[in-house]
Amino acid sequence: MSVSDPTIRTTPAVEETGETSSRILQTRGLRKQFGGLVATDDVDFAVEEGELRCLIGPNGAGKSTFLKLVTGRHEPTAGSIYYDGMDVTDLPTHERVDRGISMKFQVPSLYPELSVRDNVRIPLQRVATPGEFEARTRETLERFNLLEEIDTVAANLSHGQQQRLEIGMAMTLEPKLMLLDEPVAGLSIEETAEIADLLEALRAEEEVAFVVIEHDIDFVERIADRVTVLHQGAIFTEGTIEEVKADPAVRRIYLGEGA
Ligand code: ADP
Ligand code: MG
Repeated sequence: MSVSDPTIRTTPAVEETGETSSRILQTRGLRKQFGGLVATDDVDFAVEEGELRCLIGPNGAGKSTFLKLVTGRHEPTAGSIYYDGMDVTDLPTHERVDRGISMKFQVPSLYPELSVRDNVRIPLQRVATPGEFEARTRETLERFNLLEEIDTVAANLSHGQQQRLEIGMAMTLEPKLMLLDEPVAGLSIEETAEIADLLEALRAEEEVAFVVIEHDIDFVERIADRVTVLHQGAIFTEGTIEEVKADPAVRRIYLGEGA
């Protein structure tokens, strides 16, 4: 077949997120309804390879729902999800994970009764052989500053340690796109700074893009390249944190919530 063969057609996924594009993720017209409630409203959202994007917006804006559509936890009502040259809209979650989409959920998803070591082994089983488990577990825990807690039962870790363990577990899957839902909610200033340091180190070492949902504006200011504001399921605005903070309309949607 020659390259001019008229039967060869490129797909939107290849065009938008394939090798000739710098984007890792692009959603088109992505929509999710729960009965009559529109939780995600025709969202066109793009992430560049290696960038760190923060997703902000009032409670109920649809932030968690949007990320769950990207992971496959929720099935969209309409629209498409293109990732790394593929249309993943109809792929089951585990196949998206195998292709490099990893997520830390808002609700803790550790196994509280298992040790730190055994928690890390659960995701490692997908990517490593049994002979590699102990060395890879130690490597992960060292990186996430948890090696001293290797035999601790997860329920007995501090909240900050639990967040680091969950991010570590998601990172063992060697994602190209890492989704974090409220990684510093409820953490102290010191614990929050530790997560920010960790994200900066991960970005320096790995080719991974992040989408991070967060309310703490100081944290967002420290880590984000760009910020997307969601409101009532739709993209309200996007820009640098300075642009978003200076936007009176953004302030109004937060104040309108009474927060
Ligand atoms: P955020 O993360 O921005 O606070 P969510 O994505 O959790 O917002 O929720 C967006 C809207 O969708 C809310 O009105 C919420 O009540 C609703 N919602 C979320 N998940 C479900 C669900 N599984 N079933 C029904 N409604 C849901
Ligand atoms: Mg949420």
